[in-house]
Amino acid sequence: MRNTIQLENLNSQSVDIYNLMGFQPKVVDMDYLGGLGVKPSPSEETLKGLINGSALFKERLGKGNLIPRAEAEICEIGLDSELEIHNYTGACPTLTYEINPVTGCNVGCMYCLVSDGVHENKMKAYSNYHLLVRKVLEEKMGERHYYYFSPKTEAFQEPTLQTGIAHNILREFIAHFHKYPDSKARIFIASKAGTKQLFYKHEGESILDLFIKLKDKLQFNTSVSIMPPKLREILEPFAPSIEERLNAVLLCQQYGVMSNSALVQPIIAPYLTEENMQDFFGKLKKANIINYKPEFLTACMENLSMIGQLMGYFDKEMEKTLYEYYINPENAEHRKQRGRTAPSRHLSISHLKNMMEISSRYGLTVSICYWVRRQLKISEEMIPVINSNGFQCLGYQTELFNK
Ligand code: SF4
Repeated sequence: MRNTIQLENLNSQSVDIYNLMGFQPKVVDMDYLGGLGVKPSPSEETLKGLINGSALFKERLGKGNLIPRAEAEICEIGLDSELEIHNYTGACPTLTYEINPVTGCNVGCMYCLVSDGVHENKMKAYSNYHLLVRKVLEEKMGERHYYYFSPKTEAFQEPTLQTGIAHNILREFIAHFHKYPDSKARIFIASKAGTKQLFYKHEGESILDLFIKLKDKLQFNTSVSIMPPKLREILEPFAPSIEERLNAVLLCQQYGVMSNSALVQPIIAPYLTEENMQDFFGKLKKANIINYKPEFLTACMENLSMIGQLMGYFDKEMEKTLYEYYINPENAEHRKQRGRTAPSRHLSISHLKNMMEISSRYGLTVSICYWVRRQLKISEEMIPVINSNGFQCLGYQTELFNK
């Protein structure tokens, strides 16, 4: 069964990427970098990526397919498929199955780790995804494991909310725990949802109602970025504001749903002044968050040229610093999947130390992904594998298995 549905966007921003007054996309080449005063000279390959990205950016802006269109194709997933194991480092210490009921994502982040910021294709939402979850829950019964909802799309976005797909997946877990009260399956939710998303109803039940029924088996980790607010509105075009996300955290806490750890990503390193960090961690503290998992922006060069130009629309000096953090040939091997480059290692470690110093004043602990630990040679003394608040990696709460 396939049909296309029109979606009603739940969030909109005050800025429109297609109508930025006075903005003209440029070609990020040697002249452009030189004009900004960027010091390191990129390799030929890096420069090619920046130039290609500039052309793609201009084309997508012109065609109007830079961010998602509010429509999705509804289809069915084969029930003989598997849920992917979430272990891209090859050494993740947890057993985690991925729940990805949509191909594509309506939040439309320009920095998206999954799509490299490409949102040209129509989204596909799988109306029977809960049946696949049901099958895997039965198969893996008895194992101590997590379900990560969702690493490759947003769990609570228009295509999953307006079809009831998200609600049906949560209902599968409720039925599973009803049948097997001792099951060691646990749900790890990482989401940009705000309160509007949590209150979204399908067949009379909201996401929050379903969370409450799962409250000892589930953790809701908000995902929030650190970057200039106006830039965030452009880079996360259909996401709730940071304030709305933190209100969702408070709402979960009010109903006893575990929600006290945040994924802090992406972090735009040139924005990390003492004042901005104080402001950010102060907000997390007010939302009773006690742990966070930091992750700096990683981007392929095509994507970097787009993010850089949008950043430069607001702040040219910050755009210059951004390129300097990423394009140095010495940094070319500091890459995650699909050629996504991370900022210079020594800057990453010094920013991480600063962040940890400031966030510790707000009583926050840090958990970190194994890839970052290995790349930055972070010792167990600096960040334990399981920290004093019981969190590891992305912010999995180990205590969840004792409930
Ligand atoms: S919410 Fe996540 S999956 Fe969706 S576009 Fe943003 S980064 Fe990508």
